[in-house]
Amino acid sequence: MMTRRQAIKATAFASATFATLPGAIAQPLSPTPAPVLISTAPAPFTLPPLPYAYDALEPHIDARTVEIHHDKHHAAYVANLNKAVADYPDLGKKSIEDLMKDLNSVPEKIRTAVRNQGGGHYNHSLFWQMMKKDGGGEPMGELAKAIDTSFGSFSTFKDNFSKAGLGQFGSGWAWLVLDGKQLKIEPTANQDTPLSAGHAPLLGLDVWEHAYYLKYQNRRTDYVTALWNVVNWDFVSERYTKLKA
Ligand code: MN
Repeated sequence: MMTRRQAIKATAFASATFATLPGAIAQPLSPTPAPVLISTAPAPFTLPPLPYAYDALEPHIDARTVEIHHDKHHAAYVANLNKAVADYPDLGKKSIEDLMKDLNSVPEKIRTAVRNQGGGHYNHSLFWQMMKKDGGGEPMGELAKAIDTSFGSFSTFKDNFSKAGLGQFGSGWAWLVLDGKQLKIEPTANQDTPLSAGHAPLLGLDVWEHAYYLKYQNRRTDYVTALWNVVNWDFVSERYTKLKA
């Protein structure tokens, strides 16, 4: 039997590394007995550290926005998710991907909370890695070919993806996803994640006002245009290669 300390360590490890694993097919770490959590303890979902400095995405995304977005908004999703699952030790044992992939298995009482807070945690954990300092440009290799095949050209993809973000009424996301082996552009409302529809998110565009309002106010178009300059295509391409297999 694992001690609680070991269990927390194992789960923290899983959550720290999940984003680099094939999200849609992540498996439990080992066949050893599942971690046992004390039901009154919060599930140990943790806020992943930002993989760069707050000002790394300047001037496209300003430091203050990144700081509040990560340290306050993302942190709140994590805290509220932990609160939601605190009385459900079986759920606390699941990885965030497994939780989001099977919302129907979440008790109805907390399903909306897990959908919103868990989705917020999962989506943002990916989002930080989908950007980098001096990013932008175009993808290379297999992903570049797949984008050409699926959308005709990179610039057509870029237009359609931007439109999906700009056309999202209210809060939500636009995503490039893998549906089976097929690339698709998919908008989601609120913090809904493509994972819950059985699709693997590759690139996400957060169009919640909290993602841009300090710098861009109502100019969502300018924010979306700016975001192309910080896309981490290495990360997105690597995810594509792992997940399409
Ligand atoms: Mn956000």
